[in-house]
Amino acid sequence: MANRLSANPSNRVLVIEAGPDTPHGSIPPEVHSSYPGVAYFDPRFHWTELKVTTQPLKHNDPTFSPPKRSYEQARIMGGGSSINGQLLNRGAPTDYDGWRDLGVKGWGWDDCLPFFRKLERDLDFPDDFYHGAEGKIPVRRLFEEQWTGYTHAVQKALQAEGYEYIEDQNGEFRDGFFPLTISNAFDRRVSAAIGYLDPPTRRRSNLKILADTRVASITFEGLKATGVKAFRHKVVEETHTALREVIICSGALHSPAHLMRAGIGPAGHLKDLGIDVRQSLPGVGQNLQDHPSVSVSGYLSAENRIKRDDVRHMHIGWRFSSNMHEAPHGDMFAAQVAKSAWHDVGKRMGSLLVWVNRTYSTGEIKLTSSNWRDEPSVDFGLCSDRRDLDRLSDGFKRSAAILLSEAVSQVATNAFPTAYTEQVRKIAKVNGRNKAITWFLGKLMDGPAPVRKLLIEKVITGGVTLETLLTDSDALDQFVLANATGTWHATCSCRMGADDDPMAVTDNEGRVRGIRGLRVVDASLFPFVPSANTNGPTLMTAEKISDAMMKE
Ligand SMILES: Cc1cc2nc3c(=O)[nH]c(=O)nc-3n(C[C@H](O)[C@H](O)[C@H](O)COP(=O)(O)OP(=O)(O)OC[C@H]3O[C@@H](n4cnc5c(N)ncnc54)[C@H](O)[C@@H]3O)c2cc1C
Repeated sequence: MANRLSANPSNRVLVIEAGPDTPHGSIPPEVHSSYPGVAYFDPRFHWTELKVTTQPLKHNDPTFSPPKRSYEQARIMGGGSSINGQLLNRGAPTDYDGWRDLGVKGWGWDDCLPFFRKLERDLDFPDDFYHGAEGKIPVRRLFEEQWTGYTHAVQKALQAEGYEYIEDQNGEFRDGFFPLTISNAFDRRVSAAIGYLDPPTRRRSNLKILADTRVASITFEGLKATGVKAFRHKVVEETHTALREVIICSGALHSPAHLMRAGIGPAGHLKDLGIDVRQSLPGVGQNLQDHPSVSVSGYLSAENRIKRDDVRHMHIGWRFSSNMHEAPHGDMFAAQVAKSAWHDVGKRMGSLLVWVNRTYSTGEIKLTSSNWRDEPSVDFGLCSDRRDLDRLSDGFKRSAAILLSEAVSQVATNAFPTAYTEQVRKIAKVNGRNKAITWFLGKLMDGPAPVRKLLIEKVITGGVTLETLLTDSDALDQFVLANATGTWHATCSCRMGADDDPMAVTDNEGRVRGIRGLRVVDASLFPFVPSANTNGPTLMTAEKISDAMMKE
């Protein structure tokens, strides 16, 4: 948004980011690395107070309260694109046609494709019907010669199941497996900040960037947004006046919280917190979505491990159809992961991370108080829709079959169920203690087979075995419900919609209903989460809305 809007010298643009800046020349190495598994869990780049629940409520057990978990959300220039897995894809044409069919005018696939092309510079397939050649984000793939032995084994197992190789994930939308498309050039991450806030853009005299500055509130004159109040370096209070518009791009968990604190949201909830209702919009904070995921992992033989710290660990993706509950074709996705974490245990584990890519479950975000310093309460309700639970359990079984296949068994043994649990997150924080613990556990894993088995069952899976989950469907459903985590694709909580849609928060250009001078432009606008990793669709959304604004 900042790049496109400041391209016109008569616009004046102020960017405010709560986290640190990443200008060219001083990009933290953890951010720049092609291997994202350190940045994922580095608290310097996160909203560390944020906790969420992922499990749905149990209607037959009103006393059940889902446990709170960490959920990393980026607090750094470029947002999630600065710490994410760098997968850059689009989802299916039917996703966007689905948005249009829900009444969001101008957001069908044919309307969105030009902006997917605009954002990218595809280094493998430049400038054709599907691919852009001049965008700010380079997109590339790791082809066969860069795959590990484990990747090749997964490839063979998928072929044995009848899946075909697809060269381009972003141009062919049928089932199969393909080299994952990544936002990366010269083996380095290219975030939105690196790509769009490049040195020439930063030199524009009409663009000002304030990092380490947290917006506390939006200021108003009646129903018109006039600016924001913010705190620089936590203490210096400043008011910034917007001559034309305030654009909230705080992500799907924080954007609705800004609106609610400003009195824009579900009236009853706001009144409960003593917040004056400026505009009743029941959809604010509702319809929250993510892609629920679980994993199956195996112990990699020494020659099939990734030795270097800074190279890509995910090489191929697998799109498949559950053929369940009348879900659309290609509703499921799995990513092959050749190193499950940065540490000495993760280096010994290859995984298949499987998720429901066209989900139906929704959750909600509410304020916990009117105080801007308090994180909102976030309940994802993953798999609260039975269709998601059934398909994720089915996807888990299919992934287990790949790990147990003849091809994969030759490079990875001891297949076991895994997930991004609190325990996994804790040990994935980069510090000396975790380095030492995982070094020791890694050495034990390389020891005799019974010790390895014991270690996996006692320390990693807590006693849950693949054998049980594959033979007892109730146990599998319980495992999936308890362990499904999102894939950090929080979306849809301020969704766009038609004028007569009571739950729409904005119009089809992100303008907040009933309020002047206020837009939301981020992943919260999606009507439903597309069957894609969500950075690409978010960038597309920003390209599309900024284009419309520039034409106004
Ligand atoms: C660990 C992780 C891995 C992921 N992996 C992938 C992947 O591989 N591929 C993919 O496509 N997607 C991935 N995603 C998701 C993707 O990055 C997000 O969908 C995308 O970044 C969403 O963009 P956004 O603009 O909506 O919000 P964000 O990227 O979250 O940006 C919001 C920004 O607003 C700032 N902000 C919030 N509140 C305030 C405030 N009060 N004042 C000032 N600034 C504020 C935040 O600090 C943040 O920088 C991942 C996300 C994470 C966190």
